[in-house]
Amino acid sequence: PPVLTVRNLVAQYSSRYGTISAVKDVSFQIGRGETLGLVGESGCGKSTLSKTIVSLNRAVAGQVILDGTDIAPLTGRALRPHRANVQMVFQDPYASLNPRLRIGDALDEVLVVQNVRDRNERQRRVAAILDAVGLPATVARRYPHEFSGGQRQRIGIARALILRPKLLICDEPVSALDVSVRAQILNLFVDLKHEFGLSYLFISHDLSVINYIADRVMVMQKGEVVETLPRDDLFTNA
Ligand code: ADP
Ligand code: ADP
Repeated sequence: PPVLTVRNLVAQYSSRYGTISAVKDVSFQIGRGETLGLVGESGCGKSTLSKTIVSLNRAVAGQVILDGTDIAPLTGRALRPHRANVQMVFQDPYASLNPRLRIGDALDEVLVVQNVRDRNERQRRVAAILDAVGLPATVARRYPHEFSGGQRQRIGIARALILRPKLLICDEPVSALDVSVRAQILNLFVDLKHEFGLSYLFISHDLSVINYIADRVMVMQKGEVVETLPRDDLFTNA
């Protein structure tokens, strides 16, 4: 079975000026071990779709079936165990890292929130995930501002992966990085995919990045999926 099945998903924003549908009736699947690229003009709904899948936004309608469970209607306690299964990596991990928390404590906190009670187990998992993303153990004692963009993104990836998700949603994860660092982080995503059996929904406006990382490519326009094509057709069909 697919790792993710999204069916007829609708997401909206409401304000006193009215309601806009940022995601309109979107359906797709991601297979195990698959990387689905997501492209489309700014404002077409890519981020809203991602946040709705990870339940940072509530779906107005539709299903988000993760590993057999529709998590779209779940909240709070009922959602928590499933939330671990899908995590996000953002463009700028610094924005979501607490500047006053040492990296080790920030990673520890993620496990505490997920009810991993055994302190030794948490320490072991923090050390293991830092190693997996190519950071030395000493990083745990340092603060976010002490790191370069590429290292921060490694920390962002560690934080997403420490809960052992099956699916990672990456929203422009290399767009803010220098070209040489970008290649290193892309290679890290590929390595981690094989090491942990991950699947990705990978958003990038850079088609060379999509061409490198994605197996299939989904194109959004004005809140809808208008096309899904194999990676090899990315440049031939344009
Ligand atoms: P993308 O990620 O493809 O750039 P978004 O999902 O950010 O697109 O935005 C989709 C639409 O939803 C746009 O019209 C955008 O202006 C609107 N939108 C995004 N976030 C909000 C928000 N917090 N409040 C109101 N409208 C929003
Ligand atoms: P808080 O620390 O108060 O939960 P955050 O803004 O850090 O506030 O997180 C808000 C929500 O976003 C939480 O439900 C959290 O689990 C989720 N979240 C934070 N970071 C990630 C991530 N890397 N991937 C997926 N979800 C995340």
